[in-house]
Amino acid sequence: MRIPLSAPDITEEEIRAVADVLRTPSLSLGPKLKEFEETLARYIGVSHAVAVSSGTAALHLCVRALGISDGHEVIMPSFTFIAVANAVRYERATPVFVDIEERTFNLDPDLIEAAITPRTRAIIVVHTFGVPADLDRIIQIARKHRLLVIEDACEAIGAEYRGSKVGTFGDVAVFAFFPNKQITTGEGGAVVTNDAEIADKIRKLRNQGKDDSGAWLQHSDVGYNYRLSEISCALGIEQLKRIDSILERRASVAREYYQHLSGITGLTRPTLAFSDRKVSWFVYVVWLNPNFGQLERDSIVTEMQAHGIGLGRYFGPIHLQPAYRYLPFRTPLPLTESVAQRSIALPFFNRISVEQIREVCSALSPRT
Ligand SMILES: *Cc1c(COP(=O)(O)O)cnc(C)c1O
Repeated sequence: MRIPLSAPDITEEEIRAVADVLRTPSLSLGPKLKEFEETLARYIGVSHAVAVSSGTAALHLCVRALGISDGHEVIMPSFTFIAVANAVRYERATPVFVDIEERTFNLDPDLIEAAITPRTRAIIVVHTFGVPADLDRIIQIARKHRLLVIEDACEAIGAEYRGSKVGTFGDVAVFAFFPNKQITTGEGGAVVTNDAEIADKIRKLRNQGKDDSGAWLQHSDVGYNYRLSEISCALGIEQLKRIDSILERRASVAREYYQHLSGITGLTRPTLAFSDRKVSWFVYVVWLNPNFGQLERDSIVTEMQAHGIGLGRYFGPIHLQPAYRYLPFRTPLPLTESVAQRSIALPFFNRISVEQIREVCSALSPRT
């Protein structure tokens, strides 16, 4: 693609920091891991961060450490990345999908209570596209029904809700550092929490269930190899150093798009700013008007890709995926299905130029 959908932003200094690790004897479970975790915890504003090999691994360890298992149900959106539901299924629990609200494309708090049953154990709140969900209301519902809250902040590092960063509201929260996220470690993820006991449990599970008692090969639990290498952690430390300027740059790309798309009547732009929350821009997704169907959307995407412009379709709803057809039908998810069919993600990365933004918008304009 001449203009890709996303592109990592790695500086020469960051390349040097990674290369320096390779000149040390510590390539895993060393000082970079400790430094990355401490820096991340401080940045988010929590007591503990545990770095792991991916955002999916982070979600899985949360589900496992919170004791969510056979016979339990977990409320989550279907309009999200499939890893959210997969992590619940790894522990043989059942995803229960709830529709989204139009304003933020996150879980609609008005629909959550109807989905709660005696088997419900937790809610996974996803901050989709970097926009914080309605945390006050969702946490209130969770408290009332004694449910655990896992925040999936994989798309929202640095986003804020009423003055606090996302990731500080739930019992646990997860972040991801795949190359298309706001900051990257190549592959990687993290769990954050203020609960020392949960953090300890997750630290053990990340490393084959090994005790920290100092005893050699003492395993109290069946864990995993979900470790993150020193190489990845070194990159993460450097990326975190400039996260404020990265997020500011992404917000300014979003403002550029907003202006350049203003004359196009066939589509809806994402909300640029909220009074009570700060967006951490992950992707820039626009919605074709409801008179467009999935076929028209798909042909716009194909045509523009043929011209070298990388576009995405967020998301294929989880409940419609073949791997999830086994679930009994519960409630309809009309907004999830409708917005998923009409979404187009535009090229969005730190180093995109104003000329490239202009080109994307003028290629999109006659087609909508
Ligand atoms: C990216 C992402 C994840 C984790 O992805 P990995 O590729 O496993 O790092 C989880 N949930 C959401 C909502 C995501 O966008």
